[in-house]
Parts: sequence; structure tokens; C-alpha cells
Amino acid sequence: MTLVACIGGGQLGRMLGLAGLPLGIDFRFLDPSSTAPASAVGELVVGAFDNLAALERLAVGADVVTYEFENVAVVSAERLDALPPARALELGQDRFIEKKLFSRLGIPSARFGSLADTGLPAIVKSRRLGYDGKGQRRVDALEEMGEHELAEEFVAFDRELSILGVRGHDGDTRFWPVAENTHRDGILRVSRAPAPDAPQAEAEVLLGRLLDEFRYVGVLALELFDAGGKLLANEFAPRVHNTGHWTIEGAVTSQFENHLRAILGLPLGATDPIGPSVMINLIGAAPPVDELLRLPGAHVHLYGKEPRRARKIGHVTLVDALEETVVEAITVVERASDG
Ligand code: AMP
Repeated sequence: MTLVACIGGGQLGRMLGLAGLPLGIDFRFLDPSSTAPASAVGELVVGAFDNLAALERLAVGADVVTYEFENVAVVSAERLDALPPARALELGQDRFIEKKLFSRLGIPSARFGSLADTGLPAIVKSRRLGYDGKGQRRVDALEEMGEHELAEEFVAFDRELSILGVRGHDGDTRFWPVAENTHRDGILRVSRAPAPDAPQAEAEVLLGRLLDEFRYVGVLALELFDAGGKLLANEFAPRVHNTGHWTIEGAVTSQFENHLRAILGLPLGATDPIGPSVMINLIGAAPPVDELLRLPGAHVHLYGKEPRRARKIGHVTLVDALEETVVEAITVVERASDG
């Protein structure tokens, strides 16, 4: 029996479980909520992420410990020998340190630092614990910044892209096709992959530098701005990622399965696309499931979460679909969503 323990029992944990069950992998999750989405696919330890006793219980007998979100305490990840390596977690938790790492590795990013460094307009973000655009604001006039804030040049990008890669213990590395991502109110709405005219080779070089730097094991995501054909790194996430959900049906091997293969020392699977894919997030509220299933070829994923404003409660993926079906799917989802 192989047992994977995962810090966090949200939808990413649930989809890791769904990918691992056919491979004979058992799962245990740690989550503060007794109704965590991943409890459907494995044992659940209910406890706070910083509760040492709960972390011990999570890890007992596990072959490997992983995590599904990046705000895990670095000391806990280290103590449990978690994969991906704790250093990736540590450097990604502080946007200032993350940006400095980008520049050390020659990964272009927006100017950053104080408002004097960036000029105006700028985006001011909290250095730590920001997600889905929370804790950030656009700034058009000089103002006092908080001690725990970081300014970034406002990038007038043409589009947002992301690339996901996976690296095994032996250094074997694979990349999925670059995805083009649409956000609204800081929340991802739609990912399309492969992105049209994607700068695939360039994006692979940038992500490859991070994978090598960390001697990474598992899936790593890098979010990018495409500004006039120039790629600027926004942030990385040391975990499976929302912009890779299309890989479940749209790639030979999904991000979830390859993450498990990597952390368990198993051979990695091919990352080739099966066809052009579109993934649409269900935010806040979902349409009735039959409205989604009526769309030809729709793959519906519901996470078992209570609908709540701005909350990701599921997604739909279409592979190789007609553009009119894609438009219809987006319309059906948007009609139900809460803004
Ligand atoms: P983040 O939390 O850093 O991923 O930012 C969330 C979203 O805010 C991004 O996906 C972009 O749409 C936008 N954003 C973040 N940083 C910048 C920037 N420096 N310039 C313009 N837009 C940004």
C-alpha cells in the first residue's frame, strides 16, 4: 500500500486523490474543516495547519508528505520532509524574496520595490499571504506603503499566461503547453491551452531555471504576463495549479497524476495535449448540473463546497470543442456566477 499525506484538503487535494486512486495510492489529508472537499477521497485529519500533533498524525506511516497550498509553515514542511522541497515554499511565500530570486535567476519580471523604484501607476501587494488578488491595490499617486507591502510596476500586459512543469527525483523534467488565462476581480475565470502563438520554448526556459534551482520534485506553476511579446514572471506556485486543471482531460497525463508520480519516484507521464482545451471556473454559484452536462463534451467537476461569494466551487473543461460550444459554456457559467 502506498500512502500519500497532504497538508490541505481543498479541491486540489481532492483532485490529487482522484488521480491517485487508480494507481492504488491511498490518501490522508489535514484540514481545519471536517467537510473538506478531499475527505471524499481519503482519510481526513481535522486540525489546524500549525498544530504539531495533527501534523504528526497526518504523517504517520505515509510514504511521502505533500501540500496543496503554499501558506504551510516552512518548519512543518521541513520536519515532515515534504515534497515539493520546503525551500520553494519558503522563497515563494514572500513576494519580495520571490522577485529577488527571479532577478538572480535571470527571469524577467516587473520592476519592484518601493513606489520610487516602480514609478506610477503601480500595484501594491502584501508581501505575504495574498491569493486570488486579495491584499492588493492599484496606486496612481504617491502614498505611504505599509511595512509588509511591496510595490510592483503596473504591467499593461496583452494577456496572462502560465506554464506548468513537473520534475522527478532523477531530474527528468516535462512541461505542459502554456495556458492563456483570463482573470476578473483577481480570480481566474478561464484557461485555454495550448495558448495561441504561445512562447512555449521561452516559458520552458524560465520555469526550468526555477525547477533546477530548487532541485524541485513535483509540479511547479509559473504565472507570466505577455507584454508586447516579452514575458514577465508574476509569481510561481509550488503545487498543482488552477491553470492546469485542463490537463485532467486535455493532456495525456494530468498535473495531478504527474505530481504524484514525481513525489513517489515513479516514471513521469507524457504531458502532450490531446486537443485544444478550455477550462472554465465555477465561481460563487454553479448553474444546475444538467445545464452544464447538456453541453457536448463537457467534463464537469464539482468540489463539494458550499457556494459562497467569490469561491471556486468547481470547473468545466471542454476538449477539442467547437468555439460556439465554448461560448455557450462560458455564457451558462457566467449567468449563474455571482460577479
Ligand atoms: P497575483 O495575486 O499577484 O497573482 O495577482 C492577481 C492578478 O492581478 C494577476 O493575475 C493580474 O491580473 C493582476 N496583477 C498582478 N500584478 C500585476 C502587475 N504588476 N501589473 C498589472 N496587473 C497585475
